[in-house]
Amino acid sequence: MDTDNLNREKLKNKKRVVIKIGSSSLTHMETGKLDLLKMEKLIRILCDLRGQGREVVLVSSGAIAAGRQALGGQKRPDTISEKQAYAAVGQARLMMVYQKLFSEYNYTAAQILLTKDTMTNEVSRYNAQNTFDELLKLGVIPIVNENDTVSTHEIQFGDNDRLSAIVAALIGADLLILLSDINGLYSDDPRQNPQAEFIGLVEEITPQLLVMGKSSAGSDVGTGGMSSKLAAARIATDSGSDMVIANGENVEIIHDIMSGEEKGTLFIAHTNLDFDLMNYIDHEY
Ligand code: GLU
Repeated sequence: MDTDNLNREKLKNKKRVVIKIGSSSLTHMETGKLDLLKMEKLIRILCDLRGQGREVVLVSSGAIAAGRQALGGQKRPDTISEKQAYAAVGQARLMMVYQKLFSEYNYTAAQILLTKDTMTNEVSRYNAQNTFDELLKLGVIPIVNENDTVSTHEIQFGDNDRLSAIVAALIGADLLILLSDINGLYSDDPRQNPQAEFIGLVEEITPQLLVMGKSSAGSDVGTGGMSSKLAAARIATDSGSDMVIANGENVEIIHDIMSGEEKGTLFIAHTNLDFDLMNYIDHEY
């Protein structure tokens, strides 16, 4: 078996998995409304992973998008306070849908909203870590988002790609899956350059790779192009977690990835005994 296959085979044994889904994967492109069928499928797959004995954390965007719909599909929010208000409405909506779907399969979901403050303050970081541990022990599926209603620019993580990698590092996850509207990493933007090559395996995040990331950004209803995904890959792999970027158009891909199939781009973790999460969160307010 070649190394590529071997690395993929190892994904079958991952025990603590963080899965991030973006707003563009959760909503219908034409209307911006929640794609309920896809959400239903996603939750069924997460419950099944839990049923296999794995611990699962979902990082879900979509608060602002769901709020906008709940408020009658008004214009895209521009100001911070508009975004915060939309998120306050939408986060509750999102959770209502998630709670309902999880309960259909007899599982319980919990909400965890984080800000950068939670991470930079040692006491609250420690508390958050304990809460995650306790929830996972109880068999609950934590659903994480940034606490958009109170997070202004100065205290923002920036995007949920980074946030999910920080969560993976915080809880010592062994796999992070980023579901997006792109297949993975390409050598160039595949929509502009048909010669762009798909990269299935990344063993080291080199400066050359970071340059590639800049030119192959995704669309996005939410935030976060390829460069934020590479920033996430650096946090996750340095913390000891493998990471996969894959296309969330069909959420069954989670199952394929966890079965060792070569889907998306796999970034391999490396051991870093000096890992300190604080070095990856900028302190400048
Ligand atoms: N927290 C934002 C939301 O729920 C999304 C941020 C992101 O997708 O990166 O709408």
